[in-house]
Amino acid sequence: MEILYGTSSFDVLGFLLELFKGFCVLYTVTNLAAQHYRTKLLVLLHESSGPNHVGIMFFLVLSGLAMIFPIQLPYLDVFFFDLRLSVIILSTLYIGVADSFIVATATLVFRMLKGGLDWIWWAAGIYVYVASAYLIIKNIRSRNLGLFAASVVITALHLGLLAILSAYHPGFNFVSPFVAADNFLLLAMTLLMSIPLSVHMLDLSLSRILAFQNQYSELQYKADTDGLTGLLNRRRFQELFSQLPALYPGKPLSVLMIDVDEFKKYNDTFGHPQGDVVLRRLAALLANNVRESDIVTRYGGEEFIIGLPNTAAQEAVRIAETIRGAIENTPFYGRQITVSIGIMSCTTSDISMETMIAGADTQLYRAKKAGRNQVCLEFVI
Ligand code: GH3
Ligand code: MG
Ligand code: MG
Repeated sequence: MEILYGTSSFDVLGFLLELFKGFCVLYTVTNLAAQHYRTKLLVLLHESSGPNHVGIMFFLVLSGLAMIFPIQLPYLDVFFFDLRLSVIILSTLYIGVADSFIVATATLVFRMLKGGLDWIWWAAGIYVYVASAYLIIKNIRSRNLGLFAASVVITALHLGLLAILSAYHPGFNFVSPFVAADNFLLLAMTLLMSIPLSVHMLDLSLSRILAFQNQYSELQYKADTDGLTGLLNRRRFQELFSQLPALYPGKPLSVLMIDVDEFKKYNDTFGHPQGDVVLRRLAALLANNVRESDIVTRYGGEEFIIGLPNTAAQEAVRIAETIRGAIENTPFYGRQITVSIGIMSCTTSDISMETMIAGADTQLYRAKKAGRNQVCLEFVI
């Protein structure tokens, strides 16, 4: 399909294909980044404290590639434009104005290296575009409308700058609104079509990738976590525990099995909802009394298990006593809550998980039999 306009003719299909090619380059890089950073891209693009290095690099690469793969206008074979404006507009939405200025500066440097110093004045408008895009997107509540308005306004500013420059610079004559109005109008129409469209399409793909990653992280969290207490669940414990021999070769390993004493009676007396409150508070207490490397788990019912990597028997007993004492001294609704703790400790991590858990379980049984609210230990060399 060709549109005749004055002396120029415009191959619409050819142009759309060119635009599509340019978009595909940016889309591919977006997907590669999403694959590389997996579920972290969302966080990385919205990181707020200090410069967002990943976000800046990401949009910089997009902007660089947009310039490496420019879009040729089918009616003016000496004239190209590229999608860097679209990248800059989007970057203000995703990484904020300060980081977008860094992207803009690097884009400008890249443009200078590419040559064509005449065009630098035109490219330098990018700082105004970043500030304008940010203000527009921030002040329009609808995301799509904000991006559309920013795209149109920035394209208009871009064309306005070209018009001003062309009045002083003969190099711009062939797209000057004063000397070659037909060409200028075609360029204006082309940009007004391309920039909002490519911004919308890139935002659509990026936001879909991010939404998907968000859902995936949420599912992963739910799969690994106990819904009542927020601690790790048994399945995740088994996964993490089986990695310990490789992470701590030759180091000692201990496991605490913790069971609430007479909990059935507590439930029968004060009701299950109150029992749930106790379990939640116990979970928080356990999590607060261990190191970051320890694996705190709700093993099932009113039983908790804690994997203590790189921990010898003596230290495991100290931790267990701290936990037992802290629970004993914490006021709970209705009556005092106590726990019994069985410990299995081994001088090397090279021992099966089943043996460790069975050992801790036997010791827990001993602690119960001996009168509850106490710690029992089995020690294997
Ligand atoms: P022992 O000192 O011998 O451990 O006595 P116990 O009553 O704690 O042991 P038992 O195994 O007989 O009972 C465990 C109770 O834990 C039974 C059940 O009501 C309670 N329980 C298990 N899971 C939950 C839960 O998710 N919420 C509440 N509220 N109670 C639970
Ligand atoms: Mg039990
Ligand atoms: Mg119990």
